[in-house]
Formats: sequence, structure tokens, C-alpha cells
Amino acid sequence: MRNVALFVFVLSIFQRVFAQHSLPSPTVENVIIVTTDGLRWQEVFEGADSQCIQQIKSGEIRTRVKERYLPGGYWTNRKALMPFLWGAFAQKGRLYGNRNHHNKINVTNKIHISYPGYNEIFCGFADDKRIMTNGKKYNPNLNVLEWMNAQPGFENQVSAVGSWALFSWIFNQKSTKIAVNAAFEPFCGTHLSDEQKTLNAALHTCAHPWKDHLRPDTLTWAFAQNILEEQAPKVLFIGYGETDEYGHEGNYAAYLDAAHRFDSLVQALWNYVENSPKYRGKTAIIITTDHGRGTHNWKAHNMLTPGSDEIWMAAFVPGMEAPGEVKSSMQLHQAQFAQTIAHAVGLHFNNPEHAVAPAVYDVWVNPPTAIPAPSADLILSSGGVEK
Ligand SMILES: [Zn+2]
Ligand SMILES: [Zn+2]
Repeated sequence: MRNVALFVFVLSIFQRVFAQHSLPSPTVENVIIVTTDGLRWQEVFEGADSQCIQQIKSGEIRTRVKERYLPGGYWTNRKALMPFLWGAFAQKGRLYGNRNHHNKINVTNKIHISYPGYNEIFCGFADDKRIMTNGKKYNPNLNVLEWMNAQPGFENQVSAVGSWALFSWIFNQKSTKIAVNAAFEPFCGTHLSDEQKTLNAALHTCAHPWKDHLRPDTLTWAFAQNILEEQAPKVLFIGYGETDEYGHEGNYAAYLDAAHRFDSLVQALWNYVENSPKYRGKTAIIITTDHGRGTHNWKAHNMLTPGSDEIWMAAFVPGMEAPGEVKSSMQLHQAQFAQTIAHAVGLHFNNPEHAVAPAVYDVWVNPPTAIPAPSADLILSSGGVEK
């Protein structure tokens, strides 16, 4: 029996290696990347943390949060927090990064804060010597969006819209040709539509709880939806940010509400794609985050806080088989996202100045070909049986 098990194990490795070299060409025409800043994999896969909720001082808020986000066991709690991700999305797309199954995604930068994370996502490598802070410094590295915008058929077909002001620097707005709309920057131009004028006006009238550095996520989605309708780009990045702000504030109830709201914004995007002849059936969607947060100190994330390098990903490609949570042993890295984004639309990101990490090939392999984890590896921190 041992020999048979060994043969199957070796075969699975060969199948995996073979699969990486014989990938079917991606057939989609569009790719949309969505991030929410600093949302932990723990909340995504395990739902709200009962211990963190217990530390909420207000009894009234504690009760509300428990009723809303802890209705039952492991599987119902995570669906209560992110009903779309664990509902319609999980029926068609895959979710990676549940460390209870040894399915892991880590950032490779050593800083574990936002700008280094977004640099790694979009440039395909960590740059710990030059990108060490969240300072307003233009990114010296070529990012995949800028590179795609220069490829034949993709000119003026790439847009980025985000809640956080730093995206203007991360995507090098000073010199890039891609359209970047970040935080409280209005739509520019002499021929704005009525809706674009209304959205620009909303930048002045909306709440500014984080002053000028972060726009409310719902307003960012309104801008993104307008970009989809009026510009219809082939490549779009939408960056949300409220989860991280409430995390730093130590407001666990608001952090959960922001994650729940993020889930509804992903659903709104999904509905938009499904109802659009340009996007339906021709669009890959990749959802992730720039860093994790502390395993024990959930309020913080940095190089000194264990767990800050642990992230997750949700991916949808039309025709994907074996949807849902990927439960096999796997180690992925944040640096792989840049090439994954390019590969989605049949491109190979090439930076002449720096090597770029390979794409996450498992996204295109049906079913996922990861080496199966030993059954003993299944350690669910909260226990329970899948329903
Ligand atoms: Zn961040
Ligand atoms: Zn942060």
C-alpha cells in the first residue's frame, strides 16, 4: 500500500509540473482586480472572531455584532459576515488562503504594510530597499497595469480607482498613461457626463472620517461603476480601504461592518459584470488584500507583528471547475498576482529591469492540481462540520 501511495503522490507531482507547462490559453478579454485593505484571512475563512467581539466595550454593540455575525458554527458565521463570497461567488469561483488546510498565501516583502503590498501585487516582486513606507513617493518600479496599457489592443483600456490617496503614487500617476482615480480626486476633462459631475460634487458633500486620505468605499464603487459604464476598460483595478482604517482604530465592530460592506460591493460588481454584454462570460475577477493583520494583535500589521504577512485570494475565471474553497496544501505568494493579472488576458508581463514572479497557474487548471495535504493537516481552529 505504501508503494501505491508513493506512486500516486509522485504522479500528482508530475501532473502538477506538466499542468504548469501545458496551460490552456486564457480566453477572457477582461480582468478586474479588487482589493480591500488589510482584511485578515481569519475573518474571510473563519468569520467574525468571538474573542475579539468579547472585547468590544459597549454591551449594546457587542450584542448587535454577535447577533449579526455569530449566528451559529464555523460555516454559518463566515457566511453571515461575507454572504456573497460564501454564496454565489463560491459556487463559481475559488477561494485560496485558508491556513487551516495548509493552503497558504504570503507576502514576500518584509515590511508588511500597504505600499509595499500593493507594489508587490502590481509589480510582481518585493522592493524592500526602495518601498519601505507609505510615504508619498512615486513608485520607481514598472507595474503590470502600466505595462498592459502599452500592449497592442490594451492602449487606453486600463483604469485604476481606489479609496486611498496613495494609489496615485503607487501607480505613478505623474508619468503613467493609465487613468488613476484615487481618494478625493475628481473626474477630469472638458466633456464630463452629468453623472460624472454628480460624482465629483459628492466628493465634497460625502463624509470625510479619514480626512483627505481615504474616500468612503461606497463612493469608490460609484466611481468604478461609472468607469465601467462610460469607459468600459479591459483591465480595471478597484481598491477599497475601510477595513484597514477601522482595524487601526481598534473598532472591531466597524471592521466587521466594513468587511460585510466590501462583500456587498463585490456582489454589486459581480451583478454588473453578469448584466453587461461586454463583460459577461469574458471577464476574470481576482480579489485579494495587501497584507494581513496580527494573529493575536488584530489591530496592527507590520514586520514585528506575526501574521501580518498572511493573505488570501478569491479568483473567478469563466469555465472554472471545482469551485469553492481550495482545501489542498499549497504555498502561493503575493508577488505572483502581477503575472496572474497579465495571464488572465493572454499576456506575459515582462519587466526588462527585474524578474517577475510566475502566475498562479492553479487558477487555470481544472480541477486545481495542488499536491493533496495529508488528512491530519486539517486543523479547524473553530471546529465544526461543513454545511
Ligand atoms: Zn494596507
Ligand atoms: Zn494599515
